[in-house]
Amino acid sequence: MGKKDSLVSKGRYELRYRSDQCLNCGHPLDVSDKYCPNCSQANSTKKLTLKDFLDEFFSGLINYDSKLLKTLTALLAKPGTITKDYINGKRVTYTNPFRFLLSLAFLYFLMFTFNNNFDNLDRAASKFDGRISAGVPVAYNVKSGAFSTDSTELKKQTANVLAQLDSTDPGTKDIKDGVDILDSLMVAVNLKKVNRDSLMAADPAGYFKSVEEDKSGDGTFSTKMEFFGRMIQLDTLYSFQQAQEKYNIKSSFSNKMAFQVSNSFLKIVDHPSRFINSTISKMPFVIFLFLPVFAVFIWLVYIRKKYTYTDHLIFSFHNQSLLFILLILSLIIDAIFDVTSAAIFIIIFSVYLYLAMKKFYGQGTFKTIVKYLFLNTIFTFLAVFAVIMLLTGSVFTY
Ligand SMILES: [Zn+2]
Repeated sequence: MGKKDSLVSKGRYELRYRSDQCLNCGHPLDVSDKYCPNCSQANSTKKLTLKDFLDEFFSGLINYDSKLLKTLTALLAKPGTITKDYINGKRVTYTNPFRFLLSLAFLYFLMFTFNNNFDNLDRAASKFDGRISAGVPVAYNVKSGAFSTDSTELKKQTANVLAQLDSTDPGTKDIKDGVDILDSLMVAVNLKKVNRDSLMAADPAGYFKSVEEDKSGDGTFSTKMEFFGRMIQLDTLYSFQQAQEKYNIKSSFSNKMAFQVSNSFLKIVDHPSRFINSTISKMPFVIFLFLPVFAVFIWLVYIRKKYTYTDHLIFSFHNQSLLFILLILSLIIDAIFDVTSAAIFIIIFSVYLYLAMKKFYGQGTFKTIVKYLFLNTIFTFLAVFAVIMLLTGSVFTY
């Protein structure tokens, strides 16, 4: 901005409103300063009119818009170049890579949860819920597609299947024997379960004590979980504290965990969609823990390059941002045309990533391909690990 330009200003930038000191930070100013060189506030002592106020708001907005547009076009049109520009000092032109990625991640996962209605999972879950907790065998009617818990229905279906078998076939006897064995096993399992359930219900505190004293079983944790699950369902148990007081349960780590996990599981089975949505909403944060780890691998692969760890991290932020942009486009296209376009955009991204690596690191085709394959393998492993950690964490804290 030239001196001439700043001297011929209108409105609140007029010379008569200029001050010798910044109103925001107190930095000494020259009459030729249109903005404070220290904090970049406009050098004007004029009282804000509504018009000035709106001007300030919109210029801020447009300024951000043009930055965003420049970032988007540079990112899309010239793979790898934007990172080069950015780390070489061209920063004000573009939006901050960290903030850019964070906004895109939020936008993407928000759109993703809007697009995918997980409510149908809730309905499916509520159909099964009662039966799972009751521990009753379920008969499936192939014709009507309906489930039945009626044991006579179950027997009838088994009898139907058996009647259709050719009795002269030597294999039939084996099948019949198998069904008999299964039948008796089922009765035994159910009896054992009924037994345990009645034990639990009759004397919860005593039952839990016996579980804790039973050092032989490696299924102790799952037995505890089963106990808490049952008690939460039967006895409207709300918290671990309540369980402690009611059933005289020790406050050990394994007891707390067993309570927490079975409580989470019941909640998840009750409303799977809520769980899925809450897990997805954590994804943007996971990405910010995940990419810095991934950048260590990029840094190792390109250790002889002059780039610092931060440079590699910014490179991965930019590419991850582009992936989100493509995935957002894919969601929009899917919603409009009722298709599934994600695969096409993933292919576009794979090509883009290769070009970006080649441009940014400036190595030959062969070296770039080897490193590309290696880094993508690492990325996949880390991503799977991150998702497993996220799911486990979600179950334990849900
Ligand atoms: Zn200032």
